[in-house]
Amino acid sequence: MQVIRNGSQKARQAPDSYFTGHVRFESSFKGTPPATISGLTVAFSPGARTHWHTHPLGQTIFVLSGKGWCQRDGGLVEDIGPGDIVHFEPGEKHWHGATDTTAMSHLAIAEALDGVTVDWLEPVSQVQYARVKP
Ligand code: MN
Repeated sequence: MQVIRNGSQKARQAPDSYFTGHVRFESSFKGTPPATISGLTVAFSPGARTHWHTHPLGQTIFVLSGKGWCQRDGGLVEDIGPGDIVHFEPGEKHWHGATDTTAMSHLAIAEALDGVTVDWLEPVSQVQYARVKP
């Protein structure tokens, strides 16, 4: 058994190359091989979101606090909140983040395929994010 204490891991800024706005990675864990599971809590400030991306073996997010939005390519933007669980299928193009006015945090869990848990794509444009007609 291993207890990883709250606050024992230094929060770090998510890279601008894959996220829009202010995003922090907080607690994280990684399985012991041959397990390939890993996860982390991610805190999105209002307006912040991932870029479009896919996960080779899918991903599950558990919303912990706030109000968020997520969308799969070709689908509607969905409202998500605390207690909601969202599963993304392997290879399904999508994004997730806070709403434009409210922060959101989630726990994200995925398994790695050949060491890869995510493949990053283009940013979510302001038009896509805010659902504003151009
Ligand atoms: Mn994802």
